[in-house]
Amino acid sequence: MSQKVRVRFAPSPTGNMHIGGLRTALFNWLFARHSGGTFLVRIEDTDRERSEEKYIKALLDALLWVGIESDEAPLFQSQRQGSYHAVVNSLLQSGNAYRCFCTSEEVEARVKAAGVTEEFYHYDNFCRNLPLLENETRSYGIRFAIPENIKRVEVSDLIRGHVVFERDQLDDFIIFRSDGTPMYNFAVVVDDNYSEITHIIRGEEHLSNTPKQILLYKACGFTVPLFAHLPMILAPDGSKLSKRHGAVDVLSYRNEGYLPDALINYIVRLGWAHGDQELFTRSEMIASFSIEAVGKKAAIFDHLKLAWMNGVYLRDVSPEVIIQLMALTDSANLFKKILNNNSHETVVEALRLYQSRVKTLVELEQEITAFFEGPATYNPEDVAKWVTPGTTATLLTTILQVIEPCQPFDALTVGTLIKSLCEQEGLKLVACAQPLRIALTGGASSPGVFELLALLQKEKSLARIKAFARSLAQ
Ligand code: GLU
Repeated sequence: MSQKVRVRFAPSPTGNMHIGGLRTALFNWLFARHSGGTFLVRIEDTDRERSEEKYIKALLDALLWVGIESDEAPLFQSQRQGSYHAVVNSLLQSGNAYRCFCTSEEVEARVKAAGVTEEFYHYDNFCRNLPLLENETRSYGIRFAIPENIKRVEVSDLIRGHVVFERDQLDDFIIFRSDGTPMYNFAVVVDDNYSEITHIIRGEEHLSNTPKQILLYKACGFTVPLFAHLPMILAPDGSKLSKRHGAVDVLSYRNEGYLPDALINYIVRLGWAHGDQELFTRSEMIASFSIEAVGKKAAIFDHLKLAWMNGVYLRDVSPEVIIQLMALTDSANLFKKILNNNSHETVVEALRLYQSRVKTLVELEQEITAFFEGPATYNPEDVAKWVTPGTTATLLTTILQVIEPCQPFDALTVGTLIKSLCEQEGLKLVACAQPLRIALTGGASSPGVFELLALLQKEKSLARIKAFARSLAQ
């Protein structure tokens, strides 16, 4: 590739960043990183009514959280009005655009009167050759004049291949509104040319805009970039992905306690594959990514697989990173309490014991809170399975006697004592371990019981075992 790659992610701040937007950002970013190019972010805020400051912040926050950031200062369309005016004026002068005074009601009335019955009709070019009156006071929009000689527009898409749009699929479209603001198709062309964008990688829903943009590039005398339209992302039932299938907003994954690396690893496989590899580090993604390997077929967003992947990442991440990421979740305040009430080493150890047992950071916080607070009740099924009231109460009393003098109260020492007690009594370890787990956590499924004892330390461990033994005596 002779020209240096420059790509952009161009969200409109009319809502939060959703999964589809994140996939577009990621593929652009990977393409730039793979080819040693530049990745840019442009905020498309020309629609002043629908654009909101809070969405700009949310979009930039989401990008920051996943570690995909613009290589240059983000461009805001609202600050580029001068450029749009300059280019539209030159199009007016060259005859590639014209002022249109028609209201949509007038156009509709005319085309219906001419016998057009379709819901979507073409503009009838009423204003295309109107002479410009000197004392004109009516407000007007500006339309692009599709060149006379155009029979079709051909798009050579890097993913979809050769796509042809016939002339009758296009009409003289509006490029400037009557309030003096540019329309999407026009602003995007002016900005992509200004930023010297070489490849436009975006969602398939924009494919039908591409012939209009190509005509604009040519009329403005700009170099036409290459295009790649990414396949749709659907729900597992094949319908359009929406809230009813679970969260689609990127920041809600942060709030629920997903790890940014896990989310990115999951997203990269939506439409792109590298053999049957599922887990990728960022550098592996960058090294293997190519647009040619993006498929045409719609991708399926599967929450269960994403949760599984999050669990895989959560198992391996360091407790210190967990502490940092926890601060961004819905559990931040509850986790802060745990940090305040326990020593740092104790929290780190608790995270280490529990992190491989959950799928999200929020679940992790819930498990650890329950552990530190101690059992409010004992799981009846586990009790039924592992406890014989009289015998277990006696066993727990013996265990108490054995571990009470234990010094130091660490997993190895306390474990050795309990194991030799089991040997003496002719018991399998599980016969001691499960009632102990129920005593310490309320249930029989938990991390290693010796580690839990060491984490709680002697006083709390003994208190929980005594409380459970007492409950059995009642
Ligand atoms: N602003 C458009 C959107 O959010 C993207 C435009 C483009 O990528 O060309 O869908």
